[in-house]
Amino acid sequence: SEEDESEAAVYPAMTKCGVRICFYANIDFKEELDAICAAGAEGVGLFRSENLFTDASKVPSESLQERYYFQMADAIAPLPLDIRLFDIGGDKLMYSPVKEPNPNLGWRGVRILLDLPEIIEAQITAILKANLHGNIDILVPMIMSLDEIAAVRAILDRLYLEISQKSGLQIEKPGFGAMIEVPAAVELIEEITRVVDFISIGTNDLTQYTLAVDRNNVIVQDLFEKFHPALIRQLYRIISTAQKNRCKAIICGDMGSDPLALPFLLGCGLRHFSVVSSDIAKLKSLVGRYTLEETEGLARECLMLTTAEAIKDRLERCRSMH
Ligand code: PEP
Ligand code: MG
Repeated sequence: SEEDESEAAVYPAMTKCGVRICFYANIDFKEELDAICAAGAEGVGLFRSENLFTDASKVPSESLQERYYFQMADAIAPLPLDIRLFDIGGDKLMYSPVKEPNPNLGWRGVRILLDLPEIIEAQITAILKANLHGNIDILVPMIMSLDEIAAVRAILDRLYLEISQKSGLQIEKPGFGAMIEVPAAVELIEEITRVVDFISIGTNDLTQYTLAVDRNNVIVQDLFEKFHPALIRQLYRIISTAQKNRCKAIICGDMGSDPLALPFLLGCGLRHFSVVSSDIAKLKSLVGRYTLEETEGLARECLMLTTAEAIKDRLERCRSMH
């Protein structure tokens, strides 16, 4: 009932067998912070910082960013704030330096950031200066290689040294996370989870790039199927590899909000969800219906299935039993 849900919102979520499951919120603007705290979020799992672009031709200044990030971090400290570096380009038109015939396969996210270093340097500098409570993490969008991770890490390390030396302050280094949303990153998941502090699974783009189905094209919208066996197997591989390598895994794509997917994701070993805050209460109350043992059996069964229909039928059957 609604009452159960609003009560569930303020308490931490726990499986029927007593394991804590953590729920963060996805946000686009700092004005959402009050609402996500009221909704029971345990931090911000995804701040889409590209929303700071109000003018497609103008990059937000370092000082504006520093103020904005500090206000956010200060408002929710000691809870964590994961700031995703600007995911500009592609279908996200906040900033489009060029016109491209196929923007989703073009200049987007970390690719732009590494090609135009003044943008990423200003953003990381602002984050370092804003991290006075030590609760900010950075998340890098569209990672497809270990080289990109190393290149961003090198910029972070260099700026960290420069800023700590110049200010003489003990600055907290933000945690370093990679978005897993390109199939190449899934192939490299063993190595990626050994070199980052956490991963965040972007099922929206991972579905788009795995199935070669544009996430915004209505002509192919029926083919945009997040329960496709290819996605189900990728999720299992990503989450179980992260767990083996003791790398924190968060899901931040829309699949994390789907009650049908919930027991499957728990069964893969997922313990951290980042969702729109209006879904938190509902998901927290659902978590309490499952034991991990049964979800693990369910996940193994889903791996054997070869069609999205069969997977959804199996998950529906699980839901109707709870
Ligand atoms: C995703 O791709 O699933 C994701 C969370 O990022 P965005 O929707 O902002 O691309
Ligand atoms: Mg994405």
